[in-house]
Amino acid sequence: MERLGCVSVDLDSLHHYGRIHGLEDGALPERAADLVYTTALPRFLDLCAALGVPLTLFAVGEDLSREPAARALAGAHRAGAEVGNHSCHHDYALTRRTREQIHLEVAEGERAIQEITSARPKGFRAPGYTLNAALYQVLEGRGYRYDSSVFPAAPYWAAKAAVMGGMRLFGRRSRAVLDTPRVLLAPRAPYRPDPASPYARGAGAVLELPITTASGTRFPFIGTYALTLPAPAVRALYRTTRAQPFFNFELHGIDLLDEADGVPRALARVQRDALVPAARKQARLREVLGWLKDDYRLTTLSEAAETVGRTLDAV
Ligand SMILES: [Zn+2]
Repeated sequence: MERLGCVSVDLDSLHHYGRIHGLEDGALPERAADLVYTTALPRFLDLCAALGVPLTLFAVGEDLSREPAARALAGAHRAGAEVGNHSCHHDYALTRRTREQIHLEVAEGERAIQEITSARPKGFRAPGYTLNAALYQVLEGRGYRYDSSVFPAAPYWAAKAAVMGGMRLFGRRSRAVLDTPRVLLAPRAPYRPDPASPYARGAGAVLELPITTASGTRFPFIGTYALTLPAPAVRALYRTTRAQPFFNFELHGIDLLDEADGVPRALARVQRDALVPAARKQARLREVLGWLKDDYRLTTLSEAAETVGRTLDAV
């Protein structure tokens, strides 16, 4: 299989992070609401344009009701970025809802994006990386080409459990939902899922493009860690991981923000990567994108889905 690499950014606005950490919406000041779109997105676009790296963005429908976010996303789309659907309200408990509610979340997110880009999203990423049969079947029914939600990262899973446990301990309620450990058994390379059990292989129409985890350790090679861990650790993780023929590097808008940009102290205290200066994270991202460019042909996720899908179906 041709070695393909993808770089994607989930554009979750900051209040979604407030919710994971059990902070009330009101705890975040109004001026923080648009930072991901007005400050982080241009940084990603500039860097990727300078390096010739195609970018895939995942947008949350409700965030786009704010004019600055809608304007920024329209500009990104005009500049050539693919825009995928990251649901309407970024409900961390999406897979616990009824099929009708799940359908509405997907369809409404899609509508909000299509209003801005005039293009129907071809890809979906679930809030909190949690997939189930109902959600997968909704994506199939709506003609999605790919999903990119499966994240089989062992330490991440453990860390998420610890954070949620810790919050219960301190009396704060997290809206994150702990995924089933079954995700740890999911394939780490692109696969066609079983619609009745999408963490297993089958013959589903929507291709799954899992988020890359480091080989061996299953450490999550995502922006949060790749941009903030000491450089030798990140280089070592990358060296073990680049043997994989498909590299799906996932980042978040907040990855290129810091307190000086206006990330509120209450949030930075719990989302500690926001304490690392944005300029330092930007320099690191430039370095990591350089490695990926040397080792992979970089494409958008929808292009990768077409190419990988043809290869899988030909076998
Ligand atoms: Zn998200």
